[in-house]
Amino acid sequence: MTTRIFQYEIFNENIGALLESINNYEKVHIVSGNPEVLSNGLQNNILLDNFTSKNSIIIPDGISTVICSKIVGHPVKEKIAGIELMDCIVKKCESENRGIYLLGATQETVDMCNINLRTKYRELNILGSHDGYFEIDNCEEILVEIEKFNPQVLFVAMGCPKQELFIAKYMDRLPCNVFMGVGGSFDIIAGNLKRAPKWMINIGMEWVYRVAKEPFRIKRLSTIPKFILAVLKDKYKHK
Ligand code: UDP
Repeated sequence: MTTRIFQYEIFNENIGALLESINNYEKVHIVSGNPEVLSNGLQNNILLDNFTSKNSIIIPDGISTVICSKIVGHPVKEKIAGIELMDCIVKKCESENRGIYLLGATQETVDMCNINLRTKYRELNILGSHDGYFEIDNCEEILVEIEKFNPQVLFVAMGCPKQELFIAKYMDRLPCNVFMGVGGSFDIIAGNLKRAPKWMINIGMEWVYRVAKEPFRIKRLSTIPKFILAVLKDKYKHK
C-alpha cells in the first residue's frame, strides 16, 4: 500500500485505489509528494508531523518521487499528478453532490477557475472561494466562511509550503473531509498556464516545460537532484 522514503509513507497503488481509500478517512490531507514538498517537510516539524500522521496520504506527484521509490526498491505503481487527482475528486463530488471550496491564487484566477469548473462540471456544487493572499495566522474571517459553507472538500492553491502549513494548522478545526494542496492547479484550470503536452508528461519531462514557461522555477529545480541524492545516500548508509 505504501513505499517508505525517509519518514514518509508514499501511496503506491493506482489512482482508482486512491479514490477508494480516501473514502475510509473521516479527515484526510492529500499531500502532493514531490521533492519540494517532501524536502520542506524534512525541515519543518509541523509539516513533518502532519505529513507522517495517520490522516495524511502522500501521493507520488512527479517523476522524481517515482525514481526515489525505485531507488528504495519498492516502486510505486504509477505517478499520480495532483492536478489529475483534483479532477477525479471534483468529478466524484459532482456525481455525489458534495460541496467544494476553492482557496488560493489571485481573486481573478480563482474566479476564472470557478467559472471553468462549473462549465466542465455542470452539476458541481462550488460553495465558495477566496484568494490566497492573506496571512495564515490571521484569517479568522476565511475560516468562519469555510465553516459556514461546510464543504466536503477544500482545495488550497497557495504554493508550497504555505498551502501545507495552512492545512496542517486548520484541518482539525475545519469541518471538511478532504484537504488538498494543489499548487498552481487553479492557474491551469483558469487557463493562465498550460500543462505540458501529453508526450512530455508521459516521459516524465513536464518540469522542463514548466521551467521553459516560467524561468524563475529554475532555482527551485535544484531541490530535485538534492532530494534524489539524499535518498541514494540514505540507501547506501543503511546497506
Ligand atoms: N499563491 C497564493 N498565495 C501566496 C502565494 C502564492 O495564493 O501567498 C498562489 C499563486 O497565485 C499561484 C499558486 O499559489 O496560483 C502558486 O503555486 P506554485 O506554482 O508555486 O505551486 P506549485 O505548482 O509549484 O506547487
